[in-house]
Amino acid sequence: MNFIETRGNDGKKADKVTFSQAIKNPSASFGGLYVPEYLPKIDKIFIDKSLDLSYKELTLKILDLFELDVDRNVLKEAIDLYDKFDDKNDPVPLKKIEDILFVNELYHGPTRAFKDMALQPFGYILSKIAQNENENYLILAATSGDTGPATLESFSNKDNIKVVCIYPEGGTSDVQKLQMVTQKGGNLKVIGINGNFDDAQASLKSLLSSKSFQDELNKTGIKLSAANSVNFGRIIFQIIYHVSAYIKLVKQKEIKNGDEIYIAVPSGNFGDALGAYYAKKMGINIRKILISANSNNILSDLINTGIYDIRQRSLIKTISPAMDILISSNVERLLYDKFGSKRCKELMDDLKNNGFYELSKNELANIQKDFRGYYCNDSETKHYISEYSAKNYLMDPHTATCIKAYDDIKCSRRKTVICSTAEWTKFAPAVMNAISCQNRVKFKDIEALEGISKIMNTQIPQSILKLFDAKIIHNTVIDKDNLEKEIFKFLEE
Ligand SMILES: *Cc1c(COP(=O)(O)O)cnc(C)c1O
Repeated sequence: MNFIETRGNDGKKADKVTFSQAIKNPSASFGGLYVPEYLPKIDKIFIDKSLDLSYKELTLKILDLFELDVDRNVLKEAIDLYDKFDDKNDPVPLKKIEDILFVNELYHGPTRAFKDMALQPFGYILSKIAQNENENYLILAATSGDTGPATLESFSNKDNIKVVCIYPEGGTSDVQKLQMVTQKGGNLKVIGINGNFDDAQASLKSLLSSKSFQDELNKTGIKLSAANSVNFGRIIFQIIYHVSAYIKLVKQKEIKNGDEIYIAVPSGNFGDALGAYYAKKMGINIRKILISANSNNILSDLINTGIYDIRQRSLIKTISPAMDILISSNVERLLYDKFGSKRCKELMDDLKNNGFYELSKNELANIQKDFRGYYCNDSETKHYISEYSAKNYLMDPHTATCIKAYDDIKCSRRKTVICSTAEWTKFAPAVMNAISCQNRVKFKDIEALEGISKIMNTQIPQSILKLFDAKIIHNTVIDKDNLEKEIFKFLEE
């Protein structure tokens, strides 16, 4: 299958590329993104025949439908990385919480957030493609939390790839920072920037658009690539767990094959939600995808009003920081899918030039056929964490925002699957605030982990505990003006 462009073709780039081209160079004409030429179909027979497949087998079966230009053995080896998850026979457990409420736990990978679902196989595939073509790539990543650890873990010691990961010093949780600065791998460099996440991201962006940086890099024979959440190599793996949740519900006789379900997704950059939309389009009977945001409610506004407007907004810091986003990149793929490349480009140009766009009435109705939008402020989020901890189920703050959506639709009695995007251990201080009646205390991560473990009579996973004793490997903290120099120093090592 080939991949085409969301904003049409500029006459310079190829108007169709293969999967491996799209993941090596994810930027399409006019700043657009690559999307599959068509979506394969999953029908009732496909589901019936998949009831007894393992997660890995199902993944390969769905990848086969996309006819990717990647050696099938490479795909198999990439999928084998799910063996690193807590339970290799069930890397993505679906837990029944209430009569009609299920949680699809996407966080059982090495860095305890759902980013591993895609980045684990993606890193392997990208490295293999680079090796086959005898190319060397540099991946630059700026992170406020979960992407950094998952990217580093994915590419650690992979051939033909180097990674530089930039984080705001003091702007991540202790656990997130430790996951990065203790990460082993000679091809990895982690750099703290004095400043906040915006500073880190801005310094990376200015580097990426700098001609002298590109020229200097070309001299080293290294090309730039990107592993951010708009890369289709990540999206494709985010379709599968939505399909797998449906198949499990059928197998467990919670639903009949063909019944409608709801899926609720905590959304920031809209990658996870887009995966659910693609699963629905391919044939999984999802009545609506419930988009759940925090107080940065740009997505729920879009779905409820048809207006995407960042003019009067500034970013609000919340206890669900992975969703503290105003420009939600993957929405573009939805706009393309619904309205075509011409209209998509028009809307994206409006956003870039005027800070907003507005859908027509018909367009909005079209979006609302598939989505409902919700948002949850921090005190509501803590309330839900506390409510469910009393029912003996621990949720991280991102996951908990979905309960508001669930509360709204549960009278329909339809089975509902909530995507859990992180383990509670990654956001322990907020969870501790929620369940301990000590809302104002500013806990350190380790205090909160121990506190929660006592209150809930649960264990802190080894992978988190060992971080606090691990050797710090990366201790470079610099001013952003020195970033370019620091990167070349690393590349020359
Ligand atoms: C990245 C992330 C999200 C948001 O996912 P998108 O695909 O960007 O919408 C939600 N929760 C957690 C914990 C994350 O790390």
